Amino acid sequence: MANSKYQYVRNFELPDSLLPGTFMVFRLDGHSFHRFSERHNFSKPNDVRALQLMDRAAQDLMEEYGDIVLGFGESDEFSFLLRKSTTLYNRRNVKIVSTLTSLFTASYVFHWPTYFPDTSLQYPPSFDGRIVLYPGDKFIRDYFAWRQADTHINNLYNTVFWALVQQGGQTTTEAHATLRGTFSKQKHEILFSQFGINYNQLDERYRKGSVLVREEVRTKRRAKGKAKVKTRIELLHCDIISDDFWKDRSGLLQ
Ligand code: ATP
Ligand code: ATP
Ligand code: MG
Ligand code: MG
Ligand code: MG
Ligand code: MG
Repeated sequence: MANSKYQYVRNFELPDSLLPGTFMVFRLDGHSFHRFSERHNFSKPNDVRALQLMDRAAQDLMEEYGDIVLGFGESDEFSFLLRKSTTLYNRRNVKIVSTLTSLFTASYVFHWPTYFPDTSLQYPPSFDGRIVLYPGDKFIRDYFAWRQADTHINNLYNTVFWALVQQGGQTTTEAHATLRGTFSKQKHEILFSQFGINYNQLDERYRKGSVLVREEVRTKRRAKGKAKVKTRIELLHCDIISDDFWKDRSGLLQ
């Protein structure tokens, strides 16, 4: 096998290793989840079971891959930060993207019955995945700020949109028309005056998304030698745009 005359075809495979010493952000996103959410009767604007299932699959991924230090999820997407020093799969791009996307998808399907005990899967879901390299801390901060700002914008829109449809009796076309060109302030106003909803009091899970962070847990010293550093993954729904989150966790950007 090793030296057959066919082996030369292997040389057509080109190296695709990612620049060393650079942060990797791996992001995946559900393929056609607009349709998937309809076929599986997700409640709108936010199906909490679906969000918890995404968190669970993300947690599995972080437990399997110790070089992922942070995850951020909203809707059908999750982003993961890998240490810039990671040598996972010799930093081969496609190897990392395909393996991680596949594990996440498998975990999503594996845990489906736990989160949707009364809804069987109608067809196999899939996710796309990509890695983007960022050469400095500022870009990582801005990347995660970008995703969390997106969560806020989408959730505010979706919350008003579905209030207009579910409680206001508008058709989806009418609700889109009502919201066209409105600013954030006007959306808050519609929610409060027409539906008595104070947006800022909605569950933080919906407003802030899901933050999965690897925290160090110091375990007991062994008789000889150093304390073992163990880590555990914590789920938060907190602000990651301002400095506080990052100040308390300087290890994330090392
Ligand atoms: P693409 O394949 O291009 O990503 P998509 O249909 O998945 O297309 P997205 O922009 O990724 O489009 O949006 C995902 C859609 O999935 C949302 O607009 C929403 O309709 C639905 N969705 C995802 N998660 C939830 C959830 N937890 N609750 C309700 N709806 C959800
Ligand atoms: P890598 O992650 O690098 O692919 P690997 O352990 O998957 O590592 P492969 O070269 O892909 O290594 O080989 C797959 C191995 O899986 C085989 O060597 C064999 O041991 C096992 N395997 C796969 N399919 C079968 C099967 N149908 N029956 C028995 N063993 C199998
Ligand atoms: Mg998309
Ligand atoms: Mg999608
Ligand atoms: Mg999406
Ligand atoms: Mg193999």
